[in-house]
Amino acid sequence: MKGAAGRRKRVRIAHEQGGRCFYCRAPFKAPADEATFDHYVPYTLWPTNERFNLVVACGPCNERKAATLPLGLLLVLRPWLTRGALGVAA
Ligand SMILES: [Zn+2]
Repeated sequence: MKGAAGRRKRVRIAHEQGGRCFYCRAPFKAPADEATFDHYVPYTLWPTNERFNLVVACGPCNERKAATLPLGLLLVLRPWLTRGALGVAA
């Protein structure tokens, strides 16, 4: 999601999250520049850009998370997941 529309959406979601990173809660000084979109459920597992699956995170958190699942969600989904779906090396 690029350009002005993506920028506005990042700012709106950042505002809904209290102007903070979803993961480390660090406040954004300039959400339009600092906030990055992150799919709560990795896009590879559930390809949707719907609002309920989008959060904004600071750069370091987004890189750290990459395509991993939040732990709580992982436990919920565990019965349905395969190693392949998670990209886990055997
Ligand atoms: Zn963060």
